[in-house]
Amino acid sequence: MSFADLGLIPELLKAVADAGYTEPTPIQRQAIPTVIAGHDVMGGAQTGTGKTAGFTLPLLHRIARHANTSTSPARHATRALILAPTRELAMQVYESVKTYSKHLPLRSICVYGGVDIKPQQAELRRGIEVVIATPGRLLDHVEQKSINLSQVEVLVLDEADRMLDMGFIPDIKRILALLPDNRQSLLFSATFSDEIKKLADQMLKNPQLIEVARRNMVSETITHVVHPVSSGMKRNLLAHLLRHKPDTQALVFVDTKLACGRLAHFLERHGISADAIHGDKGQQQRTETLEAFKSGKLRVLVATDVAARGIDIDELPYVINFELPHTAEDYVHRIGRTGRAGHQGNAISLVCAEEKHRLAEIQKLIKLEIPQELVPGFDPETEFFEAGSRSRARRPASAPVEEAPRAPRSSAGRSQGPAGTRSPRQKSSVAADGFDFSKPYEPTAVSSAAPSAELQPTLVAQGKPDPLRRPQRPIAVLLGGLGRK
Ligand code: AMP
Repeated sequence: MSFADLGLIPELLKAVADAGYTEPTPIQRQAIPTVIAGHDVMGGAQTGTGKTAGFTLPLLHRIARHANTSTSPARHATRALILAPTRELAMQVYESVKTYSKHLPLRSICVYGGVDIKPQQAELRRGIEVVIATPGRLLDHVEQKSINLSQVEVLVLDEADRMLDMGFIPDIKRILALLPDNRQSLLFSATFSDEIKKLADQMLKNPQLIEVARRNMVSETITHVVHPVSSGMKRNLLAHLLRHKPDTQALVFVDTKLACGRLAHFLERHGISADAIHGDKGQQQRTETLEAFKSGKLRVLVATDVAARGIDIDELPYVINFELPHTAEDYVHRIGRTGRAGHQGNAISLVCAEEKHRLAEIQKLIKLEIPQELVPGFDPETEFFEAGSRSRARRPASAPVEEAPRAPRSSAGRSQGPAGTRSPRQKSSVAADGFDFSKPYEPTAVSSAAPSAELQPTLVAQGKPDPLRRPQRPIAVLLGGLGRK
């Protein structure tokens, strides 16, 4: 199937061809005709599926009849509003809108907080058809009367689950009240909690449900691996792993802003170019850091979940969880940064004994037993190998020991993988939380669980090309930078 088969107007087909897309992705195949037909949509899609073009293209198709070259602001009423939870995601959507609307005289703007509002006001007063905004800043503009939402025909709520996590739902409700009732609404979310469903009920009329991957599922092109390690040795293990991949870039996730900066400094001190990105940094600094990562100047970007939202990097080969996230859904969000658009990706997690319960929750959600590989010299705490270690102190001596996925206690005598990592015995078993790992995985949920091609020191030592070595070119594309396809 081609984009032309989906009924898009020639100006959009030309822009799609310019972007180098030959075939629509599954979400695009479903969403484009549905949105063109005027239906509301509840879309279950992760980043990396092509969902942005999935809603942007038909949205532009629907408002294209308003496109004109007049200089009068009255001829450029706001027809489409796209709400995104973070500045980065808003910018990314804005870049898509610009890319796909390049052959149409439609105006677009991206408005977000943390920067001077005046230039945004001046631009809005010229009249803009497509407004991409974070909720708080949009309401600032409403208050200051720099935007009029009374002629909005299409509303998109992107990453609704993240909006919820970030406490934006009251703002969203205020915005909904300002929009015409007879609009078209599209809601996208990677996960669907009851609260998201409630919001969808309020916002959507007879929505068509579009789901490409099953809920909470992870891309099939991602290889997952866990390295059990003591919490105190995590930094050293991370530096060790990165040193063995001199040409690769990695996005490293930590829990807190403080840890973010500290870890980036630690890596820098160990000769690995790294920087941190988190909510406390100014917009200018964040943009510079992202640009440095995008251009390949920066090898490692250390980020918190919130700051990394919306980072769009083509061919990012590694996402590393320095700490496992507190919710299993966030694991899905995090690793959605790699293995995108059909590229191979690697999700590496450094897991200490304290985090075993989080690992169990993640494995349960993604329906996958993640292979565990010990790296010699970086053993975890002994508790890591004790089944149900979190409740060990409280478990009666006679209680049956739950079989959790185990890793060997000591490195002695274990066979070593090609990468100097050891695969511990992987027992199919019932985890502490009752999840039965021995059950067959559901076929549609398959993720590549082959042991990671981590490190590969043997190949490096023999002077053979490291299959993980990235080409020496700025491949990271975010904020719609050059080379974005
Ligand atoms: P998204 O899921 O919207 O974040 O898109 C993920 C990546 O896929 C972006 O870099 C898009 O430029 C790219 N992309 C979107 N649609 C297509 C397509 N039909 N063919 C190839 N790449 C695409």
